Amino acid sequence: MTGRKELTGSAAIVTGGSRGIGLGIAGALAEAGARVAVVARDGEKAEAVIAELEGSGHAAYSCDVADAKACKRTVARVESAQGPVATLVNNAGITRDNIVLRLRDDDWSQVIATNLGGAFNMIRATARGMMKRRSGSIVNITSVIGLMGNAGQANYAASKAGLHGLTKSVAKELASRNIRCNAVAPGFILTDMTSALADAQVDELKKRIPAGRLGEPADVCGLVRFLAGPEAGYITGQIIAVDGGMAM
Ligand code: NAP
Repeated sequence: MTGRKELTGSAAIVTGGSRGIGLGIAGALAEAGARVAVVARDGEKAEAVIAELEGSGHAAYSCDVADAKACKRTVARVESAQGPVATLVNNAGITRDNIVLRLRDDDWSQVIATNLGGAFNMIRATARGMMKRRSGSIVNITSVIGLMGNAGQANYAASKAGLHGLTKSVAKELASRNIRCNAVAPGFILTDMTSALADAQVDELKKRIPAGRLGEPADVCGLVRFLAGPEAGYITGQIIAVDGGMAM
């Protein structure tokens, strides 16, 4: 999908856009011509990536997506500085892994508040404007763990399965206003989130992945760009895995 600038003139928010998959998505949407708003808790890190993005009109925002008021403020700042938000990518996410019996209250609540609550906060803050304009695309970055479950990740799996329900409900509520909402469910992708995996674990994982390798952020970005753009205009409420065949 090179050469085309199908998102020219529009603004796109990418939460967790400062590194990993989100950074790749920010780059892909910038290549498509969007003015990208990179949102992360560490505003300096988000600021540092702006200069690397193709095109102009990009900006960084420090915001904890688990904080509903901060999300509302951030969306208002984005809209006044960069224009109406046409694309919202809810990518910010964390893990706090442990077996159920050892999960602390905090491990549970922080993961749910960030991964699921964060997407809800951002959707609620952007949807009103999208409804008025009768146009918008929301992409939630979930995980195949939300489809399959995973020992040691009950909190994370619950947050991502919850996002699947949120995605379909929002898609049903907003389709008549020409707003689409889809989920992209990556498998194992090489980022900070997976950097703690030992070599032996990676070897074990590869045996479960028909493609025989872990993914790169670039494997996920093209689909998000497609879902944001006009060619996906009749696609909503879908959960699309990008996982080398692992979850089929
Ligand atoms: P990552 O490298 O750890 O990056 C996470 C990003 O989210 C960072 O930009 C981080 O910036 C931001 N973030 C975290 N908590 C936040 C909060 N409360 N408010 C705002 N921003 C926040 O993660 P990744 O591997 O790229 O994962 C990105 C998404 O893909 C996540 O939703 C993850 O669950 C999902 N995913 C990843 C994989 C994988 O194998 N890597 C697989 C399936 C799904 P700050 O720390 O500065 O806030």
